[in-house]
Amino acid sequence: MRHNLEVARAHAPRSRTWCVVKANAYGHSLVRALRAFDQSDGLALIEPEAAQQLRELGWVKPILLLEGCFDMDDVVLAQTRNIQVAVHCREQIEMIERSPLAEPLDVHLKMNSGMNRLGFVPAEYRQAHARLQACAKVRSIALMTHFANADDPANPGMPFAHQLRNFLDATDGLPGARNLANSAADLLHPQACADWVRPGIMLYGGTPGMHSAEYFGLRPAMTLRSQIISVQTVAPGGAVGYGSRFVAKETMRIGVVACGYADGYPRHAPDGTPVLVNGARTGIVGRVSMDMLMVDLTRLPDAGMGSEVVLWGDGLPIDEVAAAAGTIGYELMCALAPRVRVVET
Ligand code: PLP
Repeated sequence: MRHNLEVARAHAPRSRTWCVVKANAYGHSLVRALRAFDQSDGLALIEPEAAQQLRELGWVKPILLLEGCFDMDDVVLAQTRNIQVAVHCREQIEMIERSPLAEPLDVHLKMNSGMNRLGFVPAEYRQAHARLQACAKVRSIALMTHFANADDPANPGMPFAHQLRNFLDATDGLPGARNLANSAADLLHPQACADWVRPGIMLYGGTPGMHSAEYFGLRPAMTLRSQIISVQTVAPGGAVGYGSRFVAKETMRIGVVACGYADGYPRHAPDGTPVLVNGARTGIVGRVSMDMLMVDLTRLPDAGMGSEVVLWGDGLPIDEVAAAAGTIGYELMCALAPRVRVVET
């Protein structure tokens, strides 16, 4: 994670870096993130409780709530714990205005520059900015947006350049730090790496798309490992697992791996989704069950009971497993279940 932060910084050398640690640091734990990102300029996340936890764990640098405050308790928390907040709608401005406390807040005024998720549309942005400027409880206003397609810049739904232009035009002349770039923008669009960048997935060794993590020099922070806990010999015509989805065409050796969807492995992973057994590639066969999945050992005669299985991570990019399972590395990381035992290496 430290190495990946260096990669993020090397791509945006003039920007300060918010390390995005929402969703329990994309499944990697807040405590580990706090240690690994101690050289960053700040931590950004969604969950107010986790922001408070970061303060209790001793994080004294900036913290940013990426979706701002959900209720007055959050406003008070932000004021008392010196937590910066995004402001994306009129209701959030009103909440800040109504706060019973006087402590000033640093806010990041979010623009909906084309993603149509959160933020003020360009036509309403300056008015929101003026209202915040007039609010005694606001100390500073940064200008923020989020890209829909930084990983796919020519996307016709909202081309990246178009979205960036919307933001630049609507903020022209406004004072305040610019806070725009996610991982894809950090890696691919230096023109969007302004005062702050906000990388998430790349810090954990996943790619936001376009190129592999390896191409960008990113290293996996998480390796999901298990082992073979049973071996079956299946005759031609024999079916494997629930629903008998996979039927052997030849005599096969099937290894049963102690990892299932209750650990966060995607249940919808199809036959052939890659795994490493003792470092050699093979694929899963049959439906993933709650606690187990099955893999083909037919051409791995040395593999058997106790053999190490890598489900993703070292030697097997999470993005490759995600693509095979029809999802993205983000989802796999975030879905890692609490019962998975964490071993620090
Ligand atoms: N900024 C915001 C507002 C986000 O919601 C996210 C994640 O979705 C990020 C930054 C980080 O994005 P990524 O993980 O693609 O770098």
